[in-house]
Amino acid sequence: FAKNREPENYRFYQESMNTEALKRLAIETQLRHALQRQELSLVYQPQFDLNTGAVSGLEALLRWDNQELGQIPPKEFILIAEETGIIYDLGHWVMCTACNQVKTWHNMDIELPRISVNVSPKEFIHPDFLSNVKTALDESGLEPGGLQIEITETLLMEHYEGTAKILEELSRMGVQIAIDDFGKGYSSLNRLHTLTIDCLKIDRSFVNGISVGFKEQSVIKAIISMASAMNLKVIAEGVETENQFTFLKDKHCQEAQGYRLSLPLTTEQAEYFLRKTKTSEISTYPGQYPPG
Ligand code: C2E
Ligand code: MG
Ligand code: MG
Ligand code: MG
Repeated sequence: FAKNREPENYRFYQESMNTEALKRLAIETQLRHALQRQELSLVYQPQFDLNTGAVSGLEALLRWDNQELGQIPPKEFILIAEETGIIYDLGHWVMCTACNQVKTWHNMDIELPRISVNVSPKEFIHPDFLSNVKTALDESGLEPGGLQIEITETLLMEHYEGTAKILEELSRMGVQIAIDDFGKGYSSLNRLHTLTIDCLKIDRSFVNGISVGFKEQSVIKAIISMASAMNLKVIAEGVETENQFTFLKDKHCQEAQGYRLSLPLTTEQAEYFLRKTKTSEISTYPGQYPPG
């Protein structure tokens, strides 16, 4: 009978719980000082127009390199940042840094049509959010049309009334809105078409499905044609293979991003990349950028 193994299992369970809790606590503690210690940075993943091959924008992605904990991926700290309220400062820093960087590039004659910034639900529905966006735009001098905000569909559906108003105000300001990870969560299509949004970003799982089979392909084809019918731009996320890339191009998906096209780039790499690919063909540097 398993009875005499029970205490051992129980202890194991407790220990792993403690490890989890300790890790979380360490992240939380360190995260509180991350901004002031200048441990945060942004990397930029290019997005491409599949029709022309031109760079259509960059998505800013947050990176955190901590002295004690090393590099911690956003998946491990964004949620903690939300739960502790640290996200407000982080989010504002991301917004300002991204806008300032693009303006710096513009001043250097480096053109970039659009910068996308991820905004977490809590941040988005905070009363200060709109004025924070205005501040970031005013202080950088970036035109609102050059900023795209990415939010998830879960947010839209769970806080429909509140978000609809914020979306309208952003739209009035001229800021673009993309629904991130579209299709992964639950969306009411009835509501979706009443919201002032500009773009759907097809979740990586559907792009993955292209390589799986015909049924999976018809799902992504349906999303592309729905977006087109709703007059929304569509960006495919997580394009990793030639096969996926060709499929999306053939099916008239407007834009794409993914490791097949470019990894997220550091500021210096992005600068080099934007100079080089100004008007040229779609560039593919899987795994290693810049080359050589
Ligand atoms: P996301 O907004 O959907 O960003 C795309 C994620 O997929 C990024 O991961 C990116 O590095 C990764 N990715 C890009 N191309 C490929 C590909 O071809 N294959 C695969 N497997 N992955 C690819 P990352 O940077 O680790 O970010 C993860 C998530 O963390 C983001 O998902 C976003 O939800 C969140 N996040 C990142 N930066 C921020 C930020 O500044 N603020 C907020 N609130 N959330 C952020
Ligand atoms: Mg995103
Ligand atoms: Mg996404
Ligand atoms: Mg995501």
